[in-house]
Amino acid sequence: MKINCIGTGTMGSITRGSQSILLDNILIDVGSGVVKKMESMKLYTKNVKYLLLTHVHSDHFVDLPNFLIGRNIRNENNEKLTIICGKGIRKKSIELFELCFGDGTNTRYKNFEEGFNVEFVELSDNESFEEKELKITAYELEHGDCKPILGFTIEKEGKTIGYATDTTICDGVKRICTNSDIAFIDATNIIPTRSHMGLNETVCLKTEFPNCKIYAIHRSDYVHNNINEIEFPEDGDIIEI
Ligand SMILES: [Zn+2]
Ligand SMILES: [Zn+2]
Repeated sequence: MKINCIGTGTMGSITRGSQSILLDNILIDVGSGVVKKMESMKLYTKNVKYLLLTHVHSDHFVDLPNFLIGRNIRNENNEKLTIICGKGIRKKSIELFELCFGDGTNTRYKNFEEGFNVEFVELSDNESFEEKELKITAYELEHGDCKPILGFTIEKEGKTIGYATDTTICDGVKRICTNSDIAFIDATNIIPTRSHMGLNETVCLKTEFPNCKIYAIHRSDYVHNNINEIEFPEDGDIIEI
């Protein structure tokens, strides 16, 4: 499996793009600038079969119209795209399109799913989506007042990859680390805030879950990267697992 780090930054970062990774044909989060960043990295939307959305904050969600409309314009939509997200995100996705394009995009089709050849799979905590050898499980996280906010584990080819961006330290993060071989974990700040983990907590997870290799993501520019216990991926890095 190949993991492309498309963006590793938080909002306000000058040096890093919006947090997003591509695991083979699975894209996790499609926030501001992600689609153009992918194209500049020669990673194209036509290769994405599953899109996982953690929550609707703009640095994780607002490139969804660019992703889906670009896919339609380039006739890359022959194969269905499965969008895996929290409860209510289908409705939020349609509202985002209505905000950007009025109702012009949707009225040509019976519904949003037909127009963009997508299906939504809305998951709650501990629910899974399974298809062939792939299993994706949702974990409820805690992110200030934002709900729903999900993390995921992706089981594929005998390995489990965890993803918990935009969260405080909580039961969901710990369950992801328990179940994962490698995990991408929020390290937005040096010390925690009411919405995000601090780097000190991210490092502590490595001590608590020594079998899980931890990658610090969604980082601010001032978060230092001189800690040996965990990994600090940068935009454009490729991780082979
Ligand atoms: Zn957020
Ligand atoms: Zn964020």
